[in-house]
Amino acid sequence: MTELRDLYQAVILDHNNNPRNYGKLASANRHAKGVNPLCGDQVNVYFSLDDDTRVKEVGFEGRGCAICMASASIMTETVKRLSIVQADQYVTAFCSLAGGEKSEVTDGLDLSTLKVLAGVKAYPARIKCATLAWYTARSALSKGGASVTTET
Ligand code: ZN
Repeated sequence: MTELRDLYQAVILDHNNNPRNYGKLASANRHAKGVNPLCGDQVNVYFSLDDDTRVKEVGFEGRGCAICMASASIMTETVKRLSIVQADQYVTAFCSLAGGEKSEVTDGLDLSTLKVLAGVKAYPARIKCATLAWYTARSALSKGGASVTTET
């Protein structure tokens, strides 16, 4: 458990200090915005799709806590070059891991980094910080880009 926690801290620090795919995507044809009012996290997720079925490029920008920014960075690395269907499977898998529930179909998914990031479930108040970018990505890809909020 201690090892997982150390790894979790290291991954969060790494991605927060050096976020991958950061910045608005000029070529984007899908976009969604997500907010987590409880923490003040805001994230914009941009996708450029090939043939409307595959992620060609992905980018994000926003401001928020280290967990939110690191999770968004990991999300972009995870879904880049995947089909929309595969990307959505990762969203489901990560959000169930972070929520402490049993994952559904995970065959063929590489969950190694996601399992580390899901260490956030040890800090229940921060789970929404970690899942925000993933739900925002899902909205951009499959729900017409509606804004996402963790609170309704
Ligand atoms: Zn946060």
